[in-house]
Amino acid sequence: ARETEKHGFQTEVKQLLHLMIHSLYSNKEIFLRELVSNASDAADKLRFKALSDNSLYQGDSELRVRLSVDKEAGTITISDNGIGMNRDDVIRNLGTIAKSGTAEFFSQLSGDQARDSQLIGQFGVGFYSAFIVANKVVVRTRAATSDSSEGVEWSSQGEGEFELATIDKANRGTDVILFISEDSQEFLDDFRLRGIINKYSEHISIPVQMWREETPERDGPDGEKIPAEPGQWETINSGQALWTRDKGDISDDEYKEFYKTVAHDFDDPLLWSHNKVEGKTEYTSLLYVPKRAPWDLWNRDQQHGVKLYVKRVFIMDDAEQLMPTYLRFVRGLVDSNDLPLNVSREILQDNKITRSMRNGSTKKVLQMLSKLAKDDQASYQTFWDTFGNVLKEGPAEDSGNKEKIASLLRFASTHENSSQQQVSLDDYIGRMQDGQDKIYYIVADSYEAAKNNPALEIFRKKGVEVLLMFDRIDEWLMSHLDEYSDKPLQSVTRGDLDLGELDDEQDKAEQEAAEKDFAEQLTRFKTALGERVKDVRVTHRLTDSPACIITDDNDMSTQMAKLMEAAGQ
Ligand code: ADP
Ligand code: MG
Repeated sequence: ARETEKHGFQTEVKQLLHLMIHSLYSNKEIFLRELVSNASDAADKLRFKALSDNSLYQGDSELRVRLSVDKEAGTITISDNGIGMNRDDVIRNLGTIAKSGTAEFFSQLSGDQARDSQLIGQFGVGFYSAFIVANKVVVRTRAATSDSSEGVEWSSQGEGEFELATIDKANRGTDVILFISEDSQEFLDDFRLRGIINKYSEHISIPVQMWREETPERDGPDGEKIPAEPGQWETINSGQALWTRDKGDISDDEYKEFYKTVAHDFDDPLLWSHNKVEGKTEYTSLLYVPKRAPWDLWNRDQQHGVKLYVKRVFIMDDAEQLMPTYLRFVRGLVDSNDLPLNVSREILQDNKITRSMRNGSTKKVLQMLSKLAKDDQASYQTFWDTFGNVLKEGPAEDSGNKEKIASLLRFASTHENSSQQQVSLDDYIGRMQDGQDKIYYIVADSYEAAKNNPALEIFRKKGVEVLLMFDRIDEWLMSHLDEYSDKPLQSVTRGDLDLGELDDEQDKAEQEAAEKDFAEQLTRFKTALGERVKDVRVTHRLTDSPACIITDDNDMSTQMAKLMEAAGQ
């Protein structure tokens, strides 16, 4: 190595390293998954670049990752011939965490190990997981576009700083050398490593190889001679991209492992859907719904988690054209047979093929959610409690699938004595009273406020269920959802609430009589309140409260008015 230089880690990296080493301790072996998937990503990136410049392969286009153990030195080396990194790449990628919202993420860390390890899982630790098992990590790398004299060596003990040096490196790609710490010596065992690779790398789309020592000639069980075999690199996974295989040949465990690499999640997914679509547009999709929300779910600019492949070549992460925003929690990939390999984000924007894949994938996601809701209510409730508020953006964004999305919504209701959102519109319809033709709901600031609103009194009296809504997004949702299953949705705090056939003759007669009796008082109220109200009316809707505020049918609801006010309108 020539000209060694010291650099400090970005503060967040230091924090992350420290936390990770302590909190991921029980799950040490994931370092291998992370490093092998980085090697696989590096192969993907090289393949993509080589599409426009085949010379980048420099005569070596058999991309693979190799694992070797040196027991004496106490090291494991993970070596790939992918895209590699130049000096700037190394500083940017291995010295900083560039993810957007990192600062926010770190502000959520509490020092409570159990909670923090959850967060870290959601954040994805990637390369730094090497330090869970190593007390020193050396990366020797050379970018596909650099000369052999422009290799870079990065090394760090995972504390405050890392060192950089320029080296000669004959081959393109990256070697990651782990100096295994005292308490992780188990990983220096060849057999153990094979086991981990089998578990984590079956779906990796490049060969993962380990060295098999030469075997001398020996005697077989029946006295025959088994010939000597020279030492060789042996491929220990199928090296075939998981989604290209037949569904029937893929185990649940393989789907789950694959999820962890595409989604950078430590947890199993909640459900998935794997589809080969043939016909006018041909593509394969493998879409997952996570169990847990990523830490930046509420950021609408958050990158979408669906990757685009074209004919098995990785093209881009976060292809936002492939999934609507209200399904931004979906992870996975779409592999198109029709798009050109040189497709860009601009081309994707307004493209028939993209649109068709997006529509198809959206349908698949909605279908798998419906199926879950039918087959496993408890899991669906988990899903709803985690992602329900994102799905509520759906009717506004995707009017074509409004009905389908509406069937997936869950609400609190006067039928249950709980703020948990567990009533579907179909449940509601199943309980509608004779003569009831509308679905009634109320939107308020909180569950308590909704439940105790005087407007509900008449409904209680008549035994009519009302959906109770109190999430910030609910007013927005309801302004885009006027009916479901041919039944209008009606806010109970809206003007001339027409209870239709629910109002019996007696109610109507009482109402008319009361209006006459109170005519004089009404005039006095109107004069007293003046400009502040539009109208004052007599109602038989209240049973316990003397008065309540409602809005005119054509006016903004009080909730919407509050939202607008909060937004400075
Ligand atoms: P992620 O894989 O989620 O981007 P990592 O922490 O695993 O995050 O890796 C950080 C970055 O370092 C990668 O995005 C990549 O640019 C670079 N990198 C890591 N390993 C390799 C490798 N084997 N070859 C080339 N680049 C790599
Ligand atoms: Mg990674």
